[in-house]
Amino acid sequence: MIERQHRRPFAFVVIFVLIVLANSGTAEESPKSQGELLTADQALAQLEQGNRRCVQGKSTHGHDVEKWRERFLLKQKPFATVLGCSDSRVAPELLFDQGFGELFVVRVAGNIVDPNVVGSIQYAVEHLDNKLIVVLGHQNCGAVTAALAPPDQTKDEPPELRKLLDQIRPAIDSVDRKQERKQRVEANARASVKQLLEVPSIAKAMKEKHVKVVGAVYHIDSGEIMFLDD
Ligand SMILES: [Zn+2]
Repeated sequence: MIERQHRRPFAFVVIFVLIVLANSGTAEESPKSQGELLTADQALAQLEQGNRRCVQGKSTHGHDVEKWRERFLLKQKPFATVLGCSDSRVAPELLFDQGFGELFVVRVAGNIVDPNVVGSIQYAVEHLDNKLIVVLGHQNCGAVTAALAPPDQTKDEPPELRKLLDQIRPAIDSVDRKQERKQRVEANARASVKQLLEVPSIAKAMKEKHVKVVGAVYHIDSGEIMFLDD
Protein backbone atom coordinates (compact mmCIF):
# COMPACT_ATOMS: atom_id res chain seq x y z
CA MET A 1 0.00 0.00 0.00
CA ILE A 2 2.81 2.37 0.98
CA GLU A 3 4.65 1.42 -2.18
CA ARG A 4 1.62 2.30 -4.36
CA GLN A 5 1.31 5.73 -2.73
CA HIS A 6 4.92 6.42 -3.59
CA ARG A 7 4.34 5.51 -7.19
CA ARG A 8 1.37 7.84 -7.74
CA PRO A 9 3.30 11.13 -8.16
CA PHE A 10 5.58 9.38 -10.61
CA ALA A 11 2.55 8.15 -12.58
CA PHE A 12 1.13 11.69 -12.71
CA VAL A 13 4.43 13.01 -14.04
CA VAL A 14 4.47 10.33 -16.74
CA ILE A 15 0.90 11.17 -17.75
CA PHE A 16 1.71 14.89 -17.81
CA VAL A 17 4.75 14.31 -20.02
CA LEU A 18 2.71 12.13 -22.38
CA ILE A 19 0.03 14.84 -22.68
CA VAL A 20 2.67 17.47 -23.45
CA LEU A 21 4.26 15.21 -26.07
CA ALA A 22 0.88 14.43 -27.61
CA ASN A 23 0.21 18.13 -28.08
CA SER A 24 3.60 18.96 -29.48
CA GLY A 25 4.33 18.83 -33.21
CA THR A 26 0.88 20.12 -34.02
CA ALA A 27 -0.13 21.93 -37.18
CA GLU A 28 1.01 25.25 -35.72
CA GLU A 29 4.57 24.03 -35.58
CA SER A 30 4.62 22.22 -38.91
CA PRO A 31 7.35 23.77 -41.07
CA LYS A 32 5.29 23.40 -44.23
CA SER A 33 2.15 24.94 -42.84
CA GLN A 34 3.25 28.17 -41.34
CA GLY A 35 0.18 29.89 -42.74
CA GLU A 36 2.22 32.83 -43.96
CA LEU A 37 1.70 34.21 -47.41
CA LEU A 38 4.34 32.99 -49.77
CA THR A 39 5.77 34.35 -52.99
CA ALA A 40 4.86 32.43 -56.14
CA ASP A 41 8.24 30.69 -56.21
CA GLN A 42 8.09 29.79 -52.52
CA ALA A 43 4.58 28.42 -52.96
CA LEU A 44 5.73 26.39 -55.96
CA ALA A 45 8.64 24.95 -53.97
CA GLN A 46 6.25 24.00 -51.18
CA LEU A 47 3.99 22.17 -53.62
CA GLU A 48 6.94 20.37 -55.20
CA GLN A 49 8.15 19.24 -51.77
CA GLY A 50 4.64 18.06 -50.89
CA ASN A 51 4.33 16.02 -54.08
CA ARG A 52 7.74 14.47 -53.39
CA ARG A 53 6.51 13.38 -49.95
CA CYS A 54 3.36 11.95 -51.56
CA VAL A 55 5.37 10.00 -54.18
CA GLN A 56 7.71 8.64 -51.52
CA GLY A 57 4.80 7.55 -49.35
CA LYS A 58 5.86 10.00 -46.65
CA SER A 59 2.74 12.15 -46.53
CA THR A 60 2.57 14.07 -43.29
CA HIS A 61 -1.06 15.02 -43.42
CA GLY A 62 -4.36 13.81 -42.09
CA HIS A 63 -3.08 12.87 -38.66
CA ASP A 64 -4.28 15.81 -36.65
CA VAL A 65 -7.56 16.74 -38.28
CA GLU A 66 -9.18 18.33 -35.23
CA LYS A 67 -6.28 20.73 -34.68
CA TRP A 68 -6.38 21.81 -38.31
CA ARG A 69 -10.11 22.43 -38.21
CA GLU A 70 -9.71 24.59 -35.11
CA ARG A 71 -6.84 26.51 -36.66
CA PHE A 72 -8.86 27.62 -39.67
CA LEU A 73 -12.23 27.95 -37.99
CA LEU A 74 -12.61 31.69 -38.52
CA LYS A 75 -10.58 32.35 -41.63
CA GLN A 76 -8.64 30.67 -44.38
CA LYS A 77 -5.17 31.58 -45.53
CA PRO A 78 -4.24 29.28 -48.41
CA PHE A 79 -0.85 29.83 -49.98
CA ALA A 80 -1.69 28.63 -53.52
CA THR A 81 -4.64 28.16 -55.87
CA VAL A 82 -5.14 25.00 -57.91
CA LEU A 83 -7.49 24.61 -60.87
CA GLY A 84 -7.81 20.86 -61.27
CA CYS A 85 -10.03 18.21 -62.83
CA SER A 86 -13.01 16.74 -60.96
CA ASP A 87 -11.58 13.25 -61.47
CA SER A 88 -11.78 11.31 -58.20
CA ARG A 89 -8.11 10.29 -58.43
CA VAL A 90 -6.63 13.75 -58.47
CA ALA A 91 -7.41 15.51 -55.18
CA PRO A 92 -4.80 18.31 -55.04
CA GLU A 93 -4.53 18.33 -51.23
CA LEU A 94 -3.46 14.69 -51.27
CA LEU A 95 -1.16 14.92 -54.31
CA PHE A 96 0.63 17.94 -52.85
CA ASP A 97 0.42 16.65 -49.27
CA GLN A 98 -1.26 19.77 -47.93
CA GLY A 99 -3.84 20.15 -45.21
CA PHE A 100 -7.05 22.02 -44.55
CA GLY A 101 -6.76 25.71 -45.34
CA GLU A 102 -3.57 25.50 -47.39
CA LEU A 103 -4.87 25.25 -50.95
CA PHE A 104 -7.69 27.15 -52.62
CA VAL A 105 -9.02 24.56 -55.05
CA VAL A 106 -11.31 24.93 -58.06
CA ARG A 107 -12.26 21.65 -59.71
CA VAL A 108 -14.15 21.09 -62.91
CA ALA A 109 -14.02 18.23 -65.44
CA GLY A 110 -11.12 18.80 -67.81
CA ASN A 111 -9.82 21.72 -65.68
CA ILE A 112 -11.42 24.12 -68.13
CA VAL A 113 -11.74 27.86 -67.64
CA ASP A 114 -15.19 29.42 -67.60
CA PRO A 115 -16.60 32.56 -65.95
CA ASN A 116 -17.30 30.83 -62.64
CA VAL A 117 -13.79 29.41 -62.54
CA VAL A 118 -12.34 32.84 -63.32
CA GLY A 119 -14.47 34.41 -60.59
CA SER A 120 -13.27 31.87 -58.04
CA ILE A 121 -9.64 32.43 -58.96
CA GLN A 122 -10.10 36.20 -58.86
CA TYR A 123 -11.36 35.81 -55.31
CA ALA A 124 -8.21 33.89 -54.35
CA VAL A 125 -5.97 36.52 -55.93
CA GLU A 126 -7.80 39.62 -54.74
CA HIS A 127 -9.04 38.58 -51.31
CA LEU A 128 -6.75 35.75 -50.22
CA ASP A 129 -3.66 37.31 -51.76
CA ASN A 130 -2.58 34.08 -53.45
CA LYS A 131 0.51 34.51 -55.59
CA LEU A 132 0.51 31.14 -57.34
CA ILE A 133 -2.15 29.63 -59.58
CA VAL A 134 -1.55 26.07 -60.80
CA VAL A 135 -3.59 24.51 -63.61
CA LEU A 136 -3.36 20.80 -62.93
CA GLY A 137 -4.15 18.40 -65.78
CA HIS A 138 -3.69 14.67 -65.35
CA GLN A 139 -2.83 11.46 -67.15
CA ASN A 140 -5.83 9.49 -68.46
CA CYS A 141 -8.20 12.42 -68.15
CA GLY A 142 -11.66 11.18 -69.15
CA ALA A 143 -12.77 14.63 -70.27
CA VAL A 144 -9.81 14.93 -72.65
CA THR A 145 -10.43 11.40 -73.95
CA ALA A 146 -14.13 12.14 -74.52
CA ALA A 147 -13.25 15.35 -76.34
CA LEU A 148 -11.05 13.30 -78.66
CA ALA A 149 -14.05 11.29 -79.85
CA PRO A 150 -15.72 12.47 -83.07
CA PRO A 151 -18.63 14.83 -82.22
CA ASP A 152 -21.20 12.38 -83.62
CA GLN A 153 -20.21 9.92 -80.90
CA THR A 154 -21.15 12.39 -78.21
CA LYS A 155 -24.22 13.87 -79.90
CA ASP A 156 -26.58 12.11 -77.47
CA GLU A 157 -24.90 13.56 -74.40
CA PRO A 158 -26.66 16.37 -72.50
CA PRO A 159 -26.00 19.80 -74.07
CA GLU A 160 -24.02 21.10 -71.08
CA LEU A 161 -21.66 18.15 -71.25
CA ARG A 162 -21.22 18.59 -75.00
CA LYS A 163 -20.46 22.26 -74.40
CA LEU A 164 -17.76 21.31 -71.88
CA LEU A 165 -16.17 18.93 -74.40
CA ASP A 166 -16.40 21.59 -77.12
CA GLN A 167 -14.32 23.82 -74.93
CA ILE A 168 -11.55 21.22 -74.63
CA ARG A 169 -11.50 20.28 -78.33
CA PRO A 170 -9.63 23.27 -79.83
CA ALA A 171 -6.62 22.80 -77.57
CA ILE A 172 -6.26 19.07 -78.15
CA ASP A 173 -7.05 19.31 -81.87
CA SER A 174 -3.99 21.49 -82.23
CA VAL A 175 -1.85 18.50 -81.23
CA ASP A 176 -0.76 16.13 -83.97
CA ARG A 177 -3.10 13.12 -84.06
CA LYS A 178 -0.10 10.82 -83.88
CA GLN A 179 1.04 12.30 -80.60
CA GLU A 180 0.23 10.46 -77.43
CA ARG A 181 -2.62 11.43 -75.16
CA LYS A 182 -0.05 12.82 -72.74
CA GLN A 183 0.60 15.70 -75.11
CA ARG A 184 -3.10 16.37 -75.38
CA VAL A 185 -3.45 16.55 -71.60
CA GLU A 186 -0.53 18.99 -71.55
CA ALA A 187 -2.07 21.01 -74.38
CA ASN A 188 -5.35 21.20 -72.49
CA ALA A 189 -3.61 22.44 -69.31
CA ARG A 190 -1.64 24.99 -71.34
CA ALA A 191 -4.85 26.20 -72.98
CA SER A 192 -6.37 26.88 -69.56
CA VAL A 193 -3.21 28.71 -68.47
CA LYS A 194 -3.40 30.84 -71.62
CA GLN A 195 -7.04 31.67 -71.01
CA LEU A 196 -6.29 32.75 -67.45
CA LEU A 197 -3.41 34.92 -68.62
CA GLU A 198 -5.84 36.68 -70.94
CA VAL A 199 -8.13 37.70 -68.08
CA PRO A 200 -7.36 41.40 -67.52
CA SER A 201 -7.51 41.28 -63.72
CA ILE A 202 -5.17 38.28 -63.61
CA ALA A 203 -2.75 39.88 -66.09
CA LYS A 204 -2.78 42.97 -63.88
CA ALA A 205 -2.13 40.91 -60.74
CA MET A 206 0.81 39.28 -62.47
CA LYS A 207 2.34 42.68 -63.12
CA GLU A 208 1.52 44.38 -59.87
CA LYS A 209 1.42 41.55 -57.34
CA HIS A 210 3.94 39.15 -58.92
CA VAL A 211 1.28 36.48 -59.35
CA LYS A 212 2.31 33.46 -61.44
CA VAL A 213 0.13 31.07 -63.42
CA VAL A 214 1.73 27.71 -64.19
CA GLY A 215 0.57 24.52 -65.86
CA ALA A 216 1.25 21.04 -64.48
CA VAL A 217 0.38 17.45 -65.23
CA TYR A 218 -0.17 14.72 -62.66
CA HIS A 219 1.06 11.28 -63.70
CA ILE A 220 -1.18 8.74 -62.06
CA ASP A 221 1.24 5.87 -62.71
CA SER A 222 4.17 7.43 -60.83
CA GLY A 223 2.37 9.90 -58.59
CA GLU A 224 4.61 12.69 -59.87
CA ILE A 225 3.44 16.12 -60.83
CA MET A 226 5.47 17.68 -63.63
CA PHE A 227 5.33 21.43 -63.90
CA LEU A 228 5.22 22.64 -67.49
CA ASP A 229 7.67 25.12 -68.95
CA ASP A 230 6.34 28.42 -70.18
ZN1 LIG B 1 -9.74 14.64 -65.83
